[in-house]
Amino acid sequence: MKILTCTTPGTLAYGTADMPTLNPGNALLKIKRIGICGTDLHAFEGTQPFFSYPRVLGHELAAELIDAGGAEGFTEGEAVTFIPYFNCGHCIACRSGKPNCCVNIRVCGVHTDGGMAEYLQVPANLLVHGEGLSFDELALVEPLAIGAHGIRRADVKPGEFVLVIGAGPIGLGIMEFARIAGAKVIAADVNEQRLAFCSDNLKVDYTINVKSEDVTERLKEITNGDMPTVIIDATGNQKAINSAFLYLAHGGRYVLVGLQRDELIVSHPEFHKRESTLMSSRNATREDFEHVISSMKSGLVNPQTYITHRVKFDEVKDNFESWLNPANGVIKAIVEV
Ligand SMILES: [Zn+2]
Ligand SMILES: [Zn+2]
Repeated sequence: MKILTCTTPGTLAYGTADMPTLNPGNALLKIKRIGICGTDLHAFEGTQPFFSYPRVLGHELAAELIDAGGAEGFTEGEAVTFIPYFNCGHCIACRSGKPNCCVNIRVCGVHTDGGMAEYLQVPANLLVHGEGLSFDELALVEPLAIGAHGIRRADVKPGEFVLVIGAGPIGLGIMEFARIAGAKVIAADVNEQRLAFCSDNLKVDYTINVKSEDVTERLKEITNGDMPTVIIDATGNQKAINSAFLYLAHGGRYVLVGLQRDELIVSHPEFHKRESTLMSSRNATREDFEHVISSMKSGLVNPQTYITHRVKFDEVKDNFESWLNPANGVIKAIVEV
């Protein structure tokens, strides 16, 4: 079968591999769609801290089920996606129903070879039914589930002001699920084009350009002086993350979905006087995947909003570098296999 490997940072190479020989408990998938995400792009650039090379990338996948590997209720030929966070099943997080932050987690396409291939085997217990969604839609479930998980972590209540910082693909998903939770959504970014996208396509209530506007003043104006009770970072930018502690309402929750390498720096009095709750949000769980799928089925999320670029598997290598260029306006590039 054909595969595409990131051999070293900056280099992708097509090759062939043997068909997977199924390990016990694994299901066999015929890959149909691959969504390209920031993680893949950073791996290609060599800026993703957890990567080793060579690596077959790709974790946002839609597939036809070839062999269910004993998974109950799944039938060969059905359209599926799967949870690409391979967990150990016995650590403290797994025992506490939080496989998304398993101590021994192996993310498909990050720590193990992923789906830039014709076939892939995955643990059968991580399969997710397609529920009649298209392959395009199924490839978008995982990145949207990251956003859904962040909103669930924040326990967003209807009517709350939720500030989402960073309007990249993950931030957009967070905004969608904040809106679905009934929040009044404020999108903040440095890029005017992305903010316009949030207003036009996601119908966010407010936008703030962090570069050209006084963020604190705008937030006061929008929230009648209260400031947002929930802030979610989707930038992974240290300066943005540290600044946002000061935007939080007293009694509020701050959730970090984005990740950066350095320290969190906050004035303790500022943090303390708010009785701030700080959380990280890592990956997503089956509950989040199911919430995304039901939101797509009921039309609350339109997946086509996100797909800006589309190529065939043979064309990935030639196009990959262009997806790194912000000028090309990529939200989600989809590969058809
Ligand atoms: Zn991703
Ligand atoms: Zn575990």
